[in-house]
Amino acid sequence: MTRPENGPITPIYLKIQPQMAWPDDTFFYVMTADGLFVCRNHKFFRSCVPARRWPSELARQDTFLKVAYPKMPRAMIERIVGFFSAVADLHNSEAGVLLAWDEPAAKLHVVVPDQVATVSRNWHGDVFPIGLKYEWPADLPDGWVILGDVHSHVDHWPNPSYIDDLDETHRAGVHIVVGRIRSEPPEFHIEAVVDGQRFVLRPEQIMEDYRCRRDEVPRAWLDKVKIKTYGYYQDEDSGAATTATAHPSQGGNGKSFSIESGGEDQGGEDHGSEVSDVQLANIPEPDQYPDSDAQDARGKAR
Ligand SMILES: [Zn+2]
Repeated sequence: MTRPENGPITPIYLKIQPQMAWPDDTFFYVMTADGLFVCRNHKFFRSCVPARRWPSELARQDTFLKVAYPKMPRAMIERIVGFFSAVADLHNSEAGVLLAWDEPAAKLHVVVPDQVATVSRNWHGDVFPIGLKYEWPADLPDGWVILGDVHSHVDHWPNPSYIDDLDETHRAGVHIVVGRIRSEPPEFHIEAVVDGQRFVLRPEQIMEDYRCRRDEVPRAWLDKVKIKTYGYYQDEDSGAATTATAHPSQGGNGKSFSIESGGEDQGGEDHGSEVSDVQLANIPEPDQYPDSDAQDARGKAR
């Protein structure tokens, strides 16, 4: 039992051993693994009862989050939107990237994981996004940590879906959803998760000013996206090893996530598009983008 110095008027003891010496106070609180208890030493009894309210001497406290994340450079977010846009044009599917912080170099990087996007195809051949699943990259360089992720909701609003909530609440970090991808600018919705609590962030807290998507999308990024089609013409499965589901997946070591589109009007609007090799050929194929996207965030932040 530890009695805090300068405690409130009513003593609050911490029960940190299975057995505690019973205090002499006539009225006191005990903080335990089972919650806060209110305890009494009465002339005719000794009691310990779960407290129905916190001690009135305590001051109020609001939940808050103040962030100092490195800001995504403008070129980085514009290229990511360009990537999502190209995937939407090619497959009408979602796509996602991870944001990695390179601690030794103090730089932010885009990591595009192998991913399986699921789509449904109706009788008319219209394709609608269903969900997205990707594996956590196992081969990140030393000193890189994943700060967050960005994924597309294609034509839907970027509000996190039920599946997003399930996935993200257990993943600390920043989660950016890009919706209305065919508008310029698209819609961004950004949340950060800390200790299971979600906080909505403003774009300027996490990225530089977005102006216009970049059309040059690395072929290597596009090649990471495999498509699994449900509905008619199921023969377009990409043959990826992973099975996409519409439910959160804790595959293997809990590093596998599925993300579902936030839309409820799937099958409504006619925004389907056919997979086309012509469109693919029109997308240039730059080499690598590792460091051109990076940012010396620390230098700027200080
Ligand atoms: Zn989502």
